[in-house]
Amino acid sequence: MSTMNLILMGLPGAGKGTQAQKILEDFDIPHISTGDIFRAAIKNETKMGLEAKKYIDAGNLVPDEVTNGIVSDRLAEADTKNGFLLDGYPRNIDQAHALKEIGEKLNKPLDGVINIHVEPDVLVERLSGRFICRTCGATYHKLYNKPKVEGTCDVCGGHDFYQRDDDKPATVKNRLDVNVKLNTPLIDYYGQEKLLYNVDGDRDIDDVYKDIKHILDNL
Ligand SMILES: [Zn+2]
Repeated sequence: MSTMNLILMGLPGAGKGTQAQKILEDFDIPHISTGDIFRAAIKNETKMGLEAKKYIDAGNLVPDEVTNGIVSDRLAEADTKNGFLLDGYPRNIDQAHALKEIGEKLNKPLDGVINIHVEPDVLVERLSGRFICRTCGATYHKLYNKPKVEGTCDVCGGHDFYQRDDDKPATVKNRLDVNVKLNTPLIDYYGQEKLLYNVDGDRDIDDVYKDIKHILDNL
């Protein structure tokens, strides 16, 4: 069997978490998300973990070389022999170059980068749809989970709803803009490296996954 050394990319709300779960059901590779491996490295007090902790405790950003070191340590572990699914890394071009070197050093070069593409405007609709009943706290979504009677809470019959600041369109738009700025150079880079696979994420979960599975089966 060939290896499956993968990066999964996608903007917030594009369905990355859902698709990652489906990939892991079909393929025997570990899901390596940066949040998880940072927590593990710090908990296990690895050299790089202790280094990262110094920055985090001081309220500073962890420098790329420390992040790269933590990823390198993780990719050296035995459970990546069939491959891995990287999520949340690399975040910038310097990290992408470092990952290439790590792959060469460990003889685990990337096989593909799956980018779940959804237009930001569609994501704003998805992510800013949540609203809450002020009386009882029941949550709804204007696309996926509407009250049975418009404007009336199913639970308590109240009519007063609000949105959390995080769920407001302007906030969501800002969060997406930040991520578009981060992702665009990476997408360009992996396109040049002939590793990029764009998948249209603005469809049913199963249709999106069918495309991903087809790509992975043919790597
Ligand atoms: Zn209510």
